[in-house]
Amino acid sequence: MTAIDNPTLMLAIATSSAALMGTLIIAWFNARQDSYLVSWAIGMGFVVVALGAMSMRNGTYDNGLMTLAYSALLTGMTLIVRGSAQFRGARPRPRMMVAIWLLAVGAVAIPYLLGLSGLGTIMLNLACALFMLLSGYHFLAGRDESPVLMVTGAVLFALTGISFIACAGVLAASGQMVLYAAPSNWAEQFNSIMAIAGLSGLGAISLTLSQSRATRRHRREAHTDSLSGLLNRRAIFDRFGLDHLPLGTAVLMFDIDLFKQINDRCGHAAGDAVIAHFGGILARQVRPGDTVARLGGEEFCAVLPETPIEAARAIADEVRSQFEAHPARLLGEHIAATVSVGVATSGTAESFSSTLSRADSALYKAKHAGRNQVFSAPPRQIA
Ligand code: GH3
Ligand code: MG
Ligand code: MG
Repeated sequence: MTAIDNPTLMLAIATSSAALMGTLIIAWFNARQDSYLVSWAIGMGFVVVALGAMSMRNGTYDNGLMTLAYSALLTGMTLIVRGSAQFRGARPRPRMMVAIWLLAVGAVAIPYLLGLSGLGTIMLNLACALFMLLSGYHFLAGRDESPVLMVTGAVLFALTGISFIACAGVLAASGQMVLYAAPSNWAEQFNSIMAIAGLSGLGAISLTLSQSRATRRHRREAHTDSLSGLLNRRAIFDRFGLDHLPLGTAVLMFDIDLFKQINDRCGHAAGDAVIAHFGGILARQVRPGDTVARLGGEEFCAVLPETPIEAARAIADEVRSQFEAHPARLLGEHIAATVSVGVATSGTAESFSSTLSRADSALYKAKHAGRNQVFSAPPRQIA
C-alpha cells in the first residue's frame, strides 16, 4: 500500500469539511431558528481555510503561515464547541469560550513564533483534543433527546480527541522541539482516519438530529393554536376523535358570552386578548393529565379523564368564576367578559364527538338560562 502523502490527506479532509459546511448551510435555510447550524457551518469554514493552508506546508515550514493556519483551526474548533452547546440548549458562555480560545491560540502561537514548532504542534494537538472532548461532553449531556445518535456523536468526538492526544504524546516522546516537516507516524494516521470518519459520522448525525427536530417542530405547530397556545381542534380530534372515550371521562365545552359585542365595542384586538387570556385561565385550572384545546373562535374544550360529573362541574365553575373575577387587559383597559359551560361525562362505548355534542347541548341551555353559568348534560340514554 502506498501511503497517501500529507498534503493530499489535508486536501481530502478539507474537501469533506467544505462539503459538510455546504450541507449545514442548506440545512439552516430550512430551519432558520436552529442557530447551532450556523455556528457549525462557520466553524467548518475556518477548518477548511486552516486545512488548505496546512496542505501547503510541505517542504518549507513557514512558522508565520502555520501560526495563522493553526489559529484558524482553533477558531473553527471553538465555534464547533459553541454549536454543540447551542445544540443541546446549554446556557451560552461567550466569555468562557473567548477565554479558552485565547488561551489555546496563545499556547500554540507563542512557541511557533519563538521557532519551537515541535512544542507548538504538541500544544495544537492538545488544544484540538480539548475542543473535541468539550463537544463530546455536550453531546453526552444532551443524550436524552436521542440516546443512540447523541452517544454515538459523543464517542466520535471523544475518539477524535484521543487521536489528537496520541499525536501530542508521540511528538512529546520524540523530544523534537523543532519540526522541519509535518510529522508522520501512526498517531498522525490514526488522527487522519478519525478526522475523516468523525466528519462524515458527525455530519450525518447532526443532520439527522436537526431534521427530526424540524419534523417535531412542524408537528407541534400544526397542533397548536397560535393565539391561545393551547392545542387546536385538529389536535384534540386527533387525540380523542376515533376511539371510544374511557367510561366516565368528563368533557367540558366553554363559549365566551356575547363575544361579538366585545369585538364590536372594543375591537378585534381586544377580542383576541380575551381569547388568549381565557386560554391561560383554563390551562391553569385543569390538572396534569387533563387536555385543553381551543376548538375555534371563542369556543374551548377540556377533557378530564376519570372525573365524576360533580367534580367536573366544580372545575368548570372555578374556571367560570376566575374568568369573571380577572378580566383581560389591553393597553391598560380591563375588558369584562364571562363564559358559559356545558359539561357531560362519557357513557359506555361513547365517542368523544358524541360526548362533546352532549356538552354542547348543555352549553346551549346555559346560554338560554342567562349565560355565565355551568350546566351539565343528563347521563346518556342508550337506545
Ligand atoms: P353567545 O353568548 O351566544 O355565545 O354570543 P356570541 O356573541 O359569543 O356569539 P357567537 O358565538 O355567534 O360569536 C362569536 C364571534 O367570535 C363571531 C366572530 O366574529 C368572533 N370570532 C371568531 N374567531 C375570532 C378570533 O379569532 N378573534 C376575534 N377577535 N373574534 C373572533
Ligand atoms: Mg361561539
Ligand atoms: Mg359566544
